[in-house]
Amino acid sequence: MSQISRSYKLIILDRDGVINKDSDDYIKSPAEWHAIYGSLAAIAKLNKMGCKVVVATNQSGIGRGLFSEDTLEQIHQKMQRELAVVGGSLDGIFYCPHHPDDNCECRKPKPKMLLHILHKYNMTPKETLVIGDSLRDIKAAKAIGCDSVLVKTGKGERTLAKYADELQDIPVMDTLAAVVLLLYYNQLYN
Ligand SMILES: [Mg+2]
Ligand SMILES: [Zn+2]
Repeated sequence: MSQISRSYKLIILDRDGVINKDSDDYIKSPAEWHAIYGSLAAIAKLNKMGCKVVVATNQSGIGRGLFSEDTLEQIHQKMQRELAVVGGSLDGIFYCPHHPDDNCECRKPKPKMLLHILHKYNMTPKETLVIGDSLRDIKAAKAIGCDSVLVKTGKGERTLAKYADELQDIPVMDTLAAVVLLLYYNQLYN
């Protein structure tokens, strides 16, 4: 199993299962959005470390007609309000609203959403770390040549059990908070 051993300037977070608790029934309203313990403080820590922090999330619930883009906006406002309470903020939120059958270019594991983010923030793959709980997140990162970490929260444990072979060279950590603590030590001692 590999380990994260250096620093990054841009951290791209998956949302469901990394920042907030995931649900097989989708997160369809602000009331269903609940932060994972420690994740918001971890984002605030990344802000203080000088990293750019953005969210890149597949939200096929929109394409499936389960909730509207307006509702997604309200969910993200709740996320940002709760983040602000602990002194954190996001530099951007990017999402794919499409149904998997739409075959769009932005839905992870396709790399377009991540490429758009790197371009927008003028970062190289080397400067970028992707953190996710699904194979799709890791594959998208691999496709653009940047490092990634799988967290065990959300679908992480399930992903790890199902795709052990594909994930052989990918660092695995318990939570976003654990990843950020390690990044903090790397920044201090590298
Ligand atoms: Mg996820
Ligand atoms: Zn899309």
